[in-house]
Amino acid sequence: MIDPKPTASHFVNGAYLEDTSGTPIEVFYPATGEVIATVYAATPAVVEAAVASAKAAQKEWASWTGTERGRVLRRAADIMRDRNHDLSQLETFDTGKPMSETLYVDATSGADALEYFGGLAGSLTGEHIQLGEDFVYTMREPLGVCVGIGAWNYPTQISCWKGAPALACGNAMIFKPSETTPLCALKVAEILVEAGLPAGLYNVIQGLGDVGHSLITDPRVDKVSLTGSVATGKKVYATAAEGMRHVTMELGGKSPLIVFDDADVEAAVSGAILGNFYSSGQVCSNGTRVFVQSGIKPAFVARLKERLAGAVLGDPMDETTTFGPMVSARQREIVEGFVAKGQEEGAVLVCGGTRLDKPGFWLTPAIFDNVTDDMTIARDEIFGPVLSVLSFETEDEVVARANDTEFGLAAGVFTKDLSRGHRMVKALEAGTCYINTYNDAPVEAPFGGVKLSGVGRENSKAAINHFSQMKSVYVRLSEIEAPF
Ligand code: NAD
Repeated sequence: MIDPKPTASHFVNGAYLEDTSGTPIEVFYPATGEVIATVYAATPAVVEAAVASAKAAQKEWASWTGTERGRVLRRAADIMRDRNHDLSQLETFDTGKPMSETLYVDATSGADALEYFGGLAGSLTGEHIQLGEDFVYTMREPLGVCVGIGAWNYPTQISCWKGAPALACGNAMIFKPSETTPLCALKVAEILVEAGLPAGLYNVIQGLGDVGHSLITDPRVDKVSLTGSVATGKKVYATAAEGMRHVTMELGGKSPLIVFDDADVEAAVSGAILGNFYSSGQVCSNGTRVFVQSGIKPAFVARLKERLAGAVLGDPMDETTTFGPMVSARQREIVEGFVAKGQEEGAVLVCGGTRLDKPGFWLTPAIFDNVTDDMTIARDEIFGPVLSVLSFETEDEVVARANDTEFGLAAGVFTKDLSRGHRMVKALEAGTCYINTYNDAPVEAPFGGVKLSGVGRENSKAAINHFSQMKSVYVRLSEIEAPF
């Protein structure tokens, strides 16, 4: 087993950096509740070192060819894959997610991002616009110093999803992980430097919201990419606006998953499980409002309950465990509050929502039936293992109800009628839609939200537009004319 204690709290200018005068942040292993490490929030001196080193390193990095920058990222991807087992254990220590997940979706998806954007780096170009004899050419330029602020559910993946496109475009990145899961991003920084990234280009500093705030108010910072809640997103977006900084906002959701009566019930139940209970339900794009056409609802709920009974809650380090604890005591309390509210407001708790009689932040996966649109559990993001089943009759009705939310991150449809599937996703207000699947997030596809769920896109070629800007250059070959 690896030792989860980091070498130091921060990684700045190519090396670990400690400053114990910052506020201590204890790191808990969610499966046992034990403190496994302590990091210290960045002091103003650490913030200054991070920003100054990023600013100093960025111009030189931007002068490398894209292929040269990409080579570093691709090397880092290889190192991450070689160390997948240890990195997965660290992700499990940080988040409590079971190894049966972390071995396949955390460091591996981080490596995918490094490989994908490493491959893309050499192909970034501007364009040539002919204007008669004259012409304009555009240059794609980096933004400069970018700040990434992470949520706690996918600490390795989030640090790579932000770092890889930023670096590919020639930017420097300062990443502030969530205070709940501070460990994994440090390893990403270490690996990037080992792969040949010059010092200062990928710094990791710890802290709470105030550290994030001090980064995005620094005049040397050009962009902030946040993954977090809508409440934080509104604050960060407003702060960024003061300095006219570029933003990417990856925020929360309350996504609909719609099951028609012609769907393969077994497949739809699998989709509902993936879209509600993976990572103990702590996934932003989860389809937590499961609308089931009334004719098949009893069969769907019965089968879902049966399948949930097969979840293995146990030691997350044991690869046969399939369901881990919540990330923190606080998050469990929040989710328990929603479970109580659901019962108070008249939904039927089919199963789950209870603690396990052992240390750690365990909460069993919960299904609510007979949920109505106005209930709190159908309106608010819960961010835990709580699935709500709602009944519907017609296509028009379910579209209207699915869209009746301030969020718009994802939406899913299960049906055998493909025309209906495409008609539905066209009508659904969401950044990512799924037909007969749920929660896939390959790096090749854009990911992000509409409405309150966010601004901008991560992954895919779309991310390049959010980490670079165009400069237009006018060139006159014809005679220049002036009025006097
Ligand atoms: P959070 O909003 O509490 O915190 C997110 C990050 O913002 C943390 O690092 C926090 O320290 C920082 N922060 C808080 N206040 C700040 C401020 N004023 N200025 C700068 N930084 C500040 O979110 P969380 O509880 O860590 O994560 C859960 C939320 O994240 C959920 O709403 C979930 O849906 C969302 N999320 C979204 C995506 C996505 O891609 N759309 C992915 C994962 C999680």
